[in-house]
Amino acid sequence: TYSYTKSQELFKKAADIIPCGIYGHFSPAPLIPASDYPFYVAKAEGSKFHDVDGNEFIDYMCGYGPMVLGYSNPVIDTAARTQRKNVNCATGPAEVMVDLAQELVNTIPIADWAFFAKNGADVTAYSLMIARAYTGRDKIIRLKGGYHGTAPWAQSPNHHGITFNDANDIVIGEWNNYDDLEKYVHKHKNEVAGIISTPYHHPTFADNEYPADSYWKKVENLCKNEGIVLIVDDVRTGFRLDMGGSNEYFGFKPDLIAFCKAIGNGYPISALVGTNDLMNAASNVFHTGSFWFSAEPMAAALATIRELKHTNAVKKMFDTGTKLNKGLTEIAKDHGYDLKITGHPAMSYYRITDDPSLMLHQKWCGECTKRGAYFTSHHNWFISAAHSDEDITKTLLIADEAFKAIKK
Ligand code: PMP
Repeated sequence: TYSYTKSQELFKKAADIIPCGIYGHFSPAPLIPASDYPFYVAKAEGSKFHDVDGNEFIDYMCGYGPMVLGYSNPVIDTAARTQRKNVNCATGPAEVMVDLAQELVNTIPIADWAFFAKNGADVTAYSLMIARAYTGRDKIIRLKGGYHGTAPWAQSPNHHGITFNDANDIVIGEWNNYDDLEKYVHKHKNEVAGIISTPYHHPTFADNEYPADSYWKKVENLCKNEGIVLIVDDVRTGFRLDMGGSNEYFGFKPDLIAFCKAIGNGYPISALVGTNDLMNAASNVFHTGSFWFSAEPMAAALATIRELKHTNAVKKMFDTGTKLNKGLTEIAKDHGYDLKITGHPAMSYYRITDDPSLMLHQKWCGECTKRGAYFTSHHNWFISAAHSDEDITKTLLIADEAFKAIKK
């Protein structure tokens, strides 16, 4: 099994000069035991990365989502490099911005326009501003356990650096609870500007959950009848379930969809798309950033979307994930464990049942990681189109060894 001397040395140094050493979702804090995990990456290609100690991992986190067509994908990198040679950051946008907007409008059924930024949080924040500008109302409903970024409105008022007023008009509802949602909206008639939600529930440290039958259709109708803007946060799920937006997968039509992560195969770009009705409000809201017009990531995103479609990558990821899940379920069973798998096969959440403290599951994920299959225990994993049958076969062997190890 692997050792991580250099990763640990770097982290020790970083802890003195960088807050948390490594902050946010890359923080080693939820990786238990942290000694089973690499912290620093040296290079990445296809479905794999190498850490600074020279260990190789089949990557089941894909950078927490952005990598969808393989690291260092030659098609995407060539498109990006070609654009960069001409212009990346200058005093105006490049032609590719219009081409990318056109591609999104052609690909996503609800999209009549597209807007670009850098991070998921840039476009979820923009979606709230548009909903408020359009309706002239203040309140936004978001759902408990849903993640929309680190902007103060999206955080718990109890968290460090957040004040009560930061989230004053943010109302927290419950996933899959249509009746409560309806009750609230009727009680606060003409007060709710928007509802923001992920297309299915994918919280951390908990089983993921699909929408109940007709849940989304009912929410869509409620929003239409009450003049509320329906916002889908497809930042994590986008381009893994359906090229037309994950709402198409679940059969409903929102007014706005936020994309990030997989849209540029690792190049920094996010997008908000919306319907014609909201074009005017979207134009009236002031929202921009120093690097939001950079052309290289736009060229990468254009190439990524075309390549995803051209290679039928969504189906490939579904099939690869299904194969992985079937194999893991059987191996767990052979060892006397019940591995519960929830969410979409291209980005499932895993949990060994009868393990309320998660200790056993954490241990198993760590044992897999230090044998070369990078698994987290608290967050959904991600499959890419670069994951091969060979990767899955190797991963299942590793999973088998790891089950043997946790029994000892
Ligand atoms: N929404 C969802 C569903 C996410 O998963 C994330 C990122 N994990 C965000 C929004 C925020 O995106 P970013 O970190 O790029 O701001």
